[in-house]
Amino acid sequence: MAVQEKAENESDPEVTQKQEFSAFPYDPYSIQTDFMNALYRFLDKGGVSMLESPTGTGKSLSIICSALQWLIDRKERGNNSGSNKVVVDDGKEDESEPDWIRNFTVTDDKKTIRNNSKSQFRLRKHSKEKRDFDGRKEEEVYVRKQEAGDEANEQEFLLDEYESEEEESSSSSKRKPVGGRFYSSSEDEEDDDDKECSEEDGLKVFYCSRTHSQLSQFVKELKKTVFAQKIKVVCLGSRKNMCINEDVLKLGNVGRINERCLDLQKKKTSQVSKKKNLGTNVRGGRTKASSSCRCPMLRKLSLQRDFKAEILQQEAMDIEDLVQIGRDMGTCPYYGSRRVAPAAELIILPYQSLLSKSSRESLGLNLKNSVVIIDEAHNLADTLLSMHDAKITMAQLVDIQSSIESYLGRFKNLLGAGNRRYIQTMLILIRALLKPLDTSDRNLNSVNSGLPSKSKPCGGCSMAIYDFLFSLNIDNINLVKLLAYIKQSNIIHKVSGYGERVAMLQKDPAAPEEMSKLSSFRAFSDMLVALSHNNGDGRIIVSKMDSSTPGQQGGYIKYVMLTGAKLFSEVVEEAHAVILAGGTLQPIEETRERLFPWLPSNQLQFFSCSHIVPPESLMPIAVSHGPSGQSFDFSHSSRSSAKMIQELGLLMSNLVALVPEGVIVFFSSFEYETQVHTAWSKSGILTRIMKKKRLFREPRRNTEVEAVLRGYKEAIESERGAVMLAVVGGKVSEGINFSDGMCRCVVMVGLPYPSLSDIELLERIKHIEGLGDSESSKPGMTLVDDSYYSGDVQAGFEVLKSCRRRGKEYYENLCMKAVNQSIGRAIRHAKDYSAILLVDARYANDPSKRASHPSSKLPKWIKDHLIYSTKGYGDVHRLLHQFFKHKNVGKSS
Ligand code: SF4
Repeated sequence: MAVQEKAENESDPEVTQKQEFSAFPYDPYSIQTDFMNALYRFLDKGGVSMLESPTGTGKSLSIICSALQWLIDRKERGNNSGSNKVVVDDGKEDESEPDWIRNFTVTDDKKTIRNNSKSQFRLRKHSKEKRDFDGRKEEEVYVRKQEAGDEANEQEFLLDEYESEEEESSSSSKRKPVGGRFYSSSEDEEDDDDKECSEEDGLKVFYCSRTHSQLSQFVKELKKTVFAQKIKVVCLGSRKNMCINEDVLKLGNVGRINERCLDLQKKKTSQVSKKKNLGTNVRGGRTKASSSCRCPMLRKLSLQRDFKAEILQQEAMDIEDLVQIGRDMGTCPYYGSRRVAPAAELIILPYQSLLSKSSRESLGLNLKNSVVIIDEAHNLADTLLSMHDAKITMAQLVDIQSSIESYLGRFKNLLGAGNRRYIQTMLILIRALLKPLDTSDRNLNSVNSGLPSKSKPCGGCSMAIYDFLFSLNIDNINLVKLLAYIKQSNIIHKVSGYGERVAMLQKDPAAPEEMSKLSSFRAFSDMLVALSHNNGDGRIIVSKMDSSTPGQQGGYIKYVMLTGAKLFSEVVEEAHAVILAGGTLQPIEETRERLFPWLPSNQLQFFSCSHIVPPESLMPIAVSHGPSGQSFDFSHSSRSSAKMIQELGLLMSNLVALVPEGVIVFFSSFEYETQVHTAWSKSGILTRIMKKKRLFREPRRNTEVEAVLRGYKEAIESERGAVMLAVVGGKVSEGINFSDGMCRCVVMVGLPYPSLSDIELLERIKHIEGLGDSESSKPGMTLVDDSYYSGDVQAGFEVLKSCRRRGKEYYENLCMKAVNQSIGRAIRHAKDYSAILLVDARYANDPSKRASHPSSKLPKWIKDHLIYSTKGYGDVHRLLHQFFKHKNVGKSS
């Protein structure tokens, strides 16, 4: 059953109830008003809704003005029925403000009434220099002590006894499925000094997007409206973006920064708890992270409180602003912003922080009756699932095995029976997990798991969790109990801390830096969490493939989560409304099936608006033939032919003479781009192109992208224009704005289907093929070899051929989402214009002749104007010539 697309029209009684969105800083276009009205209505109604609005149509601003207006109206309605109505501001009415601003109320009159003026930091009077100095001094003393490596200090790594009765009672409370990542960290610790937090939870809007820069962009838009002053806002970011401890920051890598930060808190916490609880259960020793932390930026709780008070008095700030305030005050903005969250009305945060239950819990986020807006939701199902994947490499398993053995060697006689038993169990598990990665051991493949007995030294196999545990003879281990032990005993930090200390004392200064022991242990505990999921939630992939990635030689074990329904239902159940917004959200039926299959199609509210640009600013053409009449076919079997590459070269030689300014060409992969570039270089096509425009190629390394883009921009501004050879899924295809002259023509070469050599993709296809379809999910349906996959493309095609509908549909959707994402780089605002060339005969096929046609998955604003069939390249040339002539820009000479 397809979800009904809903267009705004005046005959719809719902649509006629239009709201005023006076906070919108410009005269809104009609589609913006329609979008805001639809969102407002969906928020009133609650439940799950999807809103699609093309990039460049002011989506963020529309979300802000509608959702925050709704928040204020909702609070006002609530307060009108009560008595504690408080007028915001200093009592002076501003006549220029609309009524709803003047009447703006907050739920608790004890809270600080904010004003627009930026207050001076009350805390600057503190001697920041002195604090920094004191903090560093303490840190140095501690490090010196640690480096001295005296025997007494080793006691800090000794585990407290783990009492079995306690373990029984605690594990019984943990027998529920383990829902999230497993971190034995201070992130889980509550700060019971911050009692005011619990008093401040009220109706909130949670806005999340994927990247840090998207969140910053959102705050920029927010600052264009009055809400930046009127609403209490906080951004939550990662430690990588918010940490101000230079010693920690210089570690560079996200994982290491997180670990070091937690480590700084944990070690001190452990010491304190040890002193407090010597001889007693370690769980009694949870202490406040802030007051005992060895990070000087988190030592004074009072500064954290002052930070919170400061943020609540300021207008909306992005991550950079928060970091600056943290630096000025000498207190950690990462933890400081978390303190602000309970009092904030708008919380801006990355996907990961909101969609993971454990992360929500550690941040203390309560979604109850609030609104969750997930922007850039075009790949939400895959993003959500990948957050719950777990992976451990052979090198990591070997590392933790040797750390535990070394720890046992040192402390065995000092440990109690409970600890010894659990540590032995961990070793049994680690040795078992190493077995399938040992390429010399064929037993797993041939005997235990029932996998093919023929020798296959490299490649991957996949299996259900229970089969995997059974094949390794570890199905009798109670993983839930073991996880409870790992969390409560703090063994990860004890063993990795001891291991790192030993390694430091023995370290050859010339030796390369070792991998972090803590990250190996975290990968292990994540894998245990994954193995405790329901059997049908995901698959285990064992890859023995040699890898050139450091630390991955010898292969890895990976858990791939396949169903996100349960994960997403937790969010939907708690929140009043969940909004998925994006430039292109099609196909919405697939999203519904994967994220909220329990929701009947007719209860999913959907709104889609057209583009802000007039049709005459757009020229989308399906190009089926090249200048010499050759039909374009960039399918896997034909794309490497010399004829095809030559024909594409002829097309490009024509385009660079016809299109002004910038042209971006998207290839399906870096490999194919290189193949084409090499062939054009040999045939002289490249020289012909470069006579007309400068040529740039998207670099593989992210760090080089900026310089290439700078050169491309300069060439467009100062010369005859430029061509960028880019790759679908690369840096250029997502998140970069190619407005105006930066892209007057975007060329999509072929259909960029993902490689069928990817075993994870095949698992997803197989899973989706079975979703809710009793025929295809029958056990008798064999999709090639169900467990072993050697990684060759042909076998992948066999899997796809075995699918009847949903699997194929999903595969095609992946391709077209990538196309839409790439071609969406052009046309970024109302006055922009661009040609869009879809170069492959498959785009040009008559869509009425096939049930599922790639072009049918284009965004509506492109699909409605796509020129499907031309008599030949001559028509394409004529159409483009007229288009650019009409735009009065003339040819690039
Ligand atoms: S507490 Fe804050 S400043 Fe200190 S290491 Fe952690 S994130 Fe960095």
